[in-house]
Amino acid sequence: MDRPGLQKLLADAGRGLINLVITKDLSRLGRNYLETGRLIEDFFPRNGIRYIALNDNIDTMMDNNEIAPFKNILNELYSRDISKKVHSSYLVSARKGMFTGTVAPFGYRKDPDQHGHLLIDEETAPIVRDIFQLAAEGHGPNFIRRRLEDAKVPTPAWWGRHRGLRNLPLTRWEKIDPENGKYMWDFSVIKDLLINPVYTGAVSSQKRNYRFKIGTINDKKPEDWIVVEGCHEPIIDKATFEIVQEKLKSRQRPQDNGEFSLFAGLIKCGECGKALTHRLAYAHEPLPVYCCKTYNAFGKGHCTQHRVTEPMLKEIVLNKIRECARAAQVDDDDVAKRLRETCETEQRQRQEALAHAIAKDEERLDALGKMVMQLYEDRMLKHITEENFTILMAKTQQEQAEVQARIDATKKSLNDEAQIAYDTQQWKEAISQYADIQELDAATLNRLVKAIVVHEKIDDGERHITIEIHFNLQPMPEIQRLESAS
Ligand SMILES: [Zn+2]
Repeated sequence: MDRPGLQKLLADAGRGLINLVITKDLSRLGRNYLETGRLIEDFFPRNGIRYIALNDNIDTMMDNNEIAPFKNILNELYSRDISKKVHSSYLVSARKGMFTGTVAPFGYRKDPDQHGHLLIDEETAPIVRDIFQLAAEGHGPNFIRRRLEDAKVPTPAWWGRHRGLRNLPLTRWEKIDPENGKYMWDFSVIKDLLINPVYTGAVSSQKRNYRFKIGTINDKKPEDWIVVEGCHEPIIDKATFEIVQEKLKSRQRPQDNGEFSLFAGLIKCGECGKALTHRLAYAHEPLPVYCCKTYNAFGKGHCTQHRVTEPMLKEIVLNKIRECARAAQVDDDDVAKRLRETCETEQRQRQEALAHAIAKDEERLDALGKMVMQLYEDRMLKHITEENFTILMAKTQQEQAEVQARIDATKKSLNDEAQIAYDTQQWKEAISQYADIQELDAATLNRLVKAIVVHEKIDDGERHITIEIHFNLQPMPEIQRLESAS
């Protein structure tokens, strides 16, 4: 804020010599948001000065400067962006095989005598060995997770805090249950541990793509990591590590028998919202069943089973389709009326939203028109230079064109909405072809059904399962109730 140009400008402004300040963007006014904020919100208005930041769409005369304080903060972040330099020094350390993380990987501790070097933590390393042993025997992270919980083995986060790392946040389980939460290992903690080559004596870095302001984003594939081997004493031998990697890969197949399940992507738990996962249950013969993912992973305390068998589900869906189809054939008017009523409510809401958007845009168009007038006036009174006038005028006119185009597009979609009444009729015709459907294949299912939601209520030890079938072409939920006492 002590740039001489700006100081002179502010002095002139204070003496009433200026009534308009234009900068290319907000950051030109100052790099400190408290100072820019003070200028925009206090100094300029107090001295009757209009301030315009061309690229940030800020004009103190217009009613849009409630976003200005936020832009100010962004500018400040930008000018503090020294992270790139810091980050490149990490790269250098990574290539030398130095461990640069703030917390040593579970099972290791930082060497107090040698920066970037790891030593085995004799207390936690046996836990790591047990986890790898279970995985090498073919058990997945969920099995291992339950095993650790049963054996009351605290999580790495707990160990870290136990060792005096006070900044490690409580896990979500510790927040819910301070007593037992420390034994609740997250699936991802175990999975990350099992794929970490650090346990074979290597140091791997740069596992994530890095961006300032967002922190680390999306994980890189293991083959893109920087891995330097032989940096410290291994906890796991290479052969075991490789076996575990193979086992983990083979577990990622879509299903036990290598095929995708019929209802994949369609079926959800009504209580926790997660997908129901498909697996084979073995009673007398393999039976495909669906169960809540949350229940599978975390057990009773977190959701209930929501167990439905695939044959039962098929039967219910087929029945419902046939029922709708027959209703569509026989009772033409009634079905059409029910459909229309359901759609109309949704349609009305959408139409109102569109109309609202149009009204807002028309208001803005109006304001832009006034801005053009004001610009001419400012130019005529020589409050603004020819150059700035041209820039501002071009910018205003460009926005006028954009807003107008948006209004036209919204008006068109509002028109399209009228189509729905017609679609109701079409859907009725489509569904009525399925009156005698016998087999449910994936194509038909996906054509007709948008989602299947399974609800479960437990009353006096009895499981009550409700299955909601949401059809694709219409937002009409159809509910079929079935009760089972198992
Ligand atoms: Zn659930």
